[in-house]
Amino acid sequence: MGKETTHKFKAEVSQLLDILVHSLYTNKEIFLRELISNASDALEKARFKATSQGAEDAVAPEIRITADKDAGTVTVTDTGVGMTRDELMRNIGTIAHSGTAEIARLAQDGKESLDALIGRFGVGFYSVYMVADEVTVTTRSMDPDAEPMAWTSDGRNDYKLEALDGEAAKDLPRGTRIEVKLKKDMVSQFANPAALRNIVKKHSNFINFPIFVDGERVNTISALWREPKFQITGEQYAEFYKFLTYDSEDPLDTLHTSVDAPVQFNALMFIPKHGDDPFGMNRENRGLDLYVRRVLIERQNKDLLPEYLGFVKGVVDTEDLPLNISRETLQDNLLMRKISSTLVKQVLDHLAKAAKDDEDRYAEFWRAHGLLFKAGYMDFLNKDKFATLVRFNSSHHDDAKGLASLADYVSRAKEGQKEIYYAYGPSREALALSPHLEVFRRKGIEVLYLFEPIDEFVMDALRDFEGNALVSAEHADMSKLDPFADVEAVERPEPLSEVQKPLLDKLLARFKAVLGDAVTEVKATDRLSSSPVCLANPDGNVTSSMDKIMRVVSKDTSIPRKVLEVNPDHPLMRNLLAICEKDENDPFIDQAANQLFESALLLEGYLTDPHALVGRVQDLLTKSSNWYVETRK
Ligand code: ADP
Ligand code: MG
Repeated sequence: MGKETTHKFKAEVSQLLDILVHSLYTNKEIFLRELISNASDALEKARFKATSQGAEDAVAPEIRITADKDAGTVTVTDTGVGMTRDELMRNIGTIAHSGTAEIARLAQDGKESLDALIGRFGVGFYSVYMVADEVTVTTRSMDPDAEPMAWTSDGRNDYKLEALDGEAAKDLPRGTRIEVKLKKDMVSQFANPAALRNIVKKHSNFINFPIFVDGERVNTISALWREPKFQITGEQYAEFYKFLTYDSEDPLDTLHTSVDAPVQFNALMFIPKHGDDPFGMNRENRGLDLYVRRVLIERQNKDLLPEYLGFVKGVVDTEDLPLNISRETLQDNLLMRKISSTLVKQVLDHLAKAAKDDEDRYAEFWRAHGLLFKAGYMDFLNKDKFATLVRFNSSHHDDAKGLASLADYVSRAKEGQKEIYYAYGPSREALALSPHLEVFRRKGIEVLYLFEPIDEFVMDALRDFEGNALVSAEHADMSKLDPFADVEAVERPEPLSEVQKPLLDKLLARFKAVLGDAVTEVKATDRLSSSPVCLANPDGNVTSSMDKIMRVVSKDTSIPRKVLEVNPDHPLMRNLLAICEKDENDPFIDQAANQLFESALLLEGYLTDPHALVGRVQDLLTKSSNWYVETRK
């Protein structure tokens, strides 16, 4: 026997083990799925290594599972790459996989239940300690110089390593054997071939290598993507999808294709019912599995689909790439690029068809993945298709659930309207109050509602949809709106008299004098109906929300200088004109100018110091309450 050494687990491993050992998670059977998945990975690696050296692997690839009720053990043996001493220490004992470290962190947070976490991440090798008192890993690496090794641990603080020699080493075949000594209360449940068979069928049926339980082959179907479509049932697709993604629900949509030109490949792709946080850590989990002639080349390859289609899960298998291709050269491989552009086209066409065939289902897709999909505005090659697939909520809808395509908008546009208007806001309620949209409400012109910062980038990139310019409502050219009659009756006062017109100029000049450099200009507008004033951007290119994003990026906290637009028909303005007629320097005008300006800043989200505003409102309330008391007498 070789010398035995003892090693402490890395802190994060101890933490994770502690969580798993004490876990009340009921679905403990997934430990087997994880061990089989590791065995399968080891077999894929062995095959990949052999083929990239241009040789067939002499060892038959297989996974064998046995149960021993009396000893209370379950053993999983594979003929894969095995591990050297260094690899054992690096792979089992530390956490290489960020997902596992993430679980330990999240479980400590206590915000998410362990159930949900274990379900969401592959918890890997350590999950075996949900059912085990002790685990022994015996392994012989494919590397001919490596010593066979044994690793043992009860999953508490440390593990023992031992180089095997003599009898123990002589008969040890290549690969890895994992002997699980079950906790007492787990023996009847798992040291049972029938139960093990069921678990394999349920979680590991699509593993690419034969799995035997007590000598009997269990999994039958492999490489489902290579089977003819008509022979595959919806159930089989769903089963494969769940196997691939660990999702507990069926996929929303399945796309199975076989392409011969310009490059040969089979692809089986799925769209899940639910999206993940589009910019969160699940990004790592994106990507299609790439096979060459059924041999796994890379799991979750990041080059086949662009990020914005990252919600698509699945498998691509091609005959055209060489088996010994290195993962490093995949990225600049011309064939890969051809496969990729064909895949993108297929996914987009599929979505277009889905949108046409069943609006409700497409809406479901959009709610799950729309946010990520919108990043496709950067895919200039597919811009036109992308434009037909984006959806927005709009003033046409009764609530935030409604979705409109750009084509829907155009079909509802006024006769002669050549613009598609949009506005950004935090909610429908906020947009309903926006002074910038008053003219659109009055004239019954639809406005697309943008709730996400990325929406404006989409509009900016598209610029135009089938000859209709995409225009921010805030920057609408009023002369283009003039031809459309009001649909909402607005009470307008008498037009300004010849006496009032010059007074208005005086009033606006007074406003500008009071506000000074805080505004670039004060001018009259006819876009408003119920608001007395609004702020508009002097630079016609940048919308307020885009401006805010740019300010956050450049850490600029100053208040932007804008144009104060004044509604001369508003009763408040008419009163101010009357005051102005008596005395253009009346301090009430100054007070009103400041108050209106700060209220507008507040609406736009720029007011940082409310002190002056609050003091002024109190003063105005005091004054108006005097008047109110008088009128109530
Ligand atoms: P993951 O599979 O996500 O990498 P695991 O915790 O399941 O994480 O496994 C950790 C590592 O241990 C694997 O990446 C692999 O290097 C090694 N390993 C586990 N089981 C085996 C096995 N049967 N054969 C070879 N290596 C293995
Ligand atoms: Mg694993």
